[in-house]
Amino acid sequence: MEIRSLEVSHNQFMKKMKAEDPDFFKKLGEGQQPSFFVLSCCDSRTCPSTITGMPLGEMFTHRNIANQVTEEDDSFRASLHYALDVLGVNYIIILGHTNCGGILAASSGVQHESLDGWLKHVKATLDEYDKSNEAPTPAELEEHNVRQQIINVKNHPVYQRKGEGVPVIGLLFHLDSGELEWIDPDDNNL
Ligand SMILES: [Zn+2]
Repeated sequence: MEIRSLEVSHNQFMKKMKAEDPDFFKKLGEGQQPSFFVLSCCDSRTCPSTITGMPLGEMFTHRNIANQVTEEDDSFRASLHYALDVLGVNYIIILGHTNCGGILAASSGVQHESLDGWLKHVKATLDEYDKSNEAPTPAELEEHNVRQQIINVKNHPVYQRKGEGVPVIGLLFHLDSGELEWIDPDDNNL
């Protein structure tokens, strides 16, 4: 895709939104009251608002490779704090996906000076996987990753202080079917 396509596509987007509501951008500029804080992978195929069909303003989003929660990550800490303490979101969503390059790189032992510092977090997550299953499939690891990040969010000091009553829900986006698999270890009956 050429860079010019970006401008063309954006113009179409602007025109469409104004046709639906002439005040759309005026309202957008007035503030945000998102219901969801989303942690997702950086993967270009898993844009949270796009795949869920949610409007702008509903999903306060933090992204990193393989959607990891680690207490060492100051950027995530700030996002989580802002989402809970300032915006007052109703739900936290961990959005993983199938065919995740970050999970694959960590599980296959990829090494690179620019990646090692981050992949160590992903490896630590995969190390938590039940060792009795000797050859987990990539999909099993991806689901495990989502479950582990739910636990990590709940143990995060910011969630411990500010997250009372805010459900943490896992979603696994299946790239090859478009389906969202719900992973809700607390059985919130949502
Ligand atoms: Zn990914």
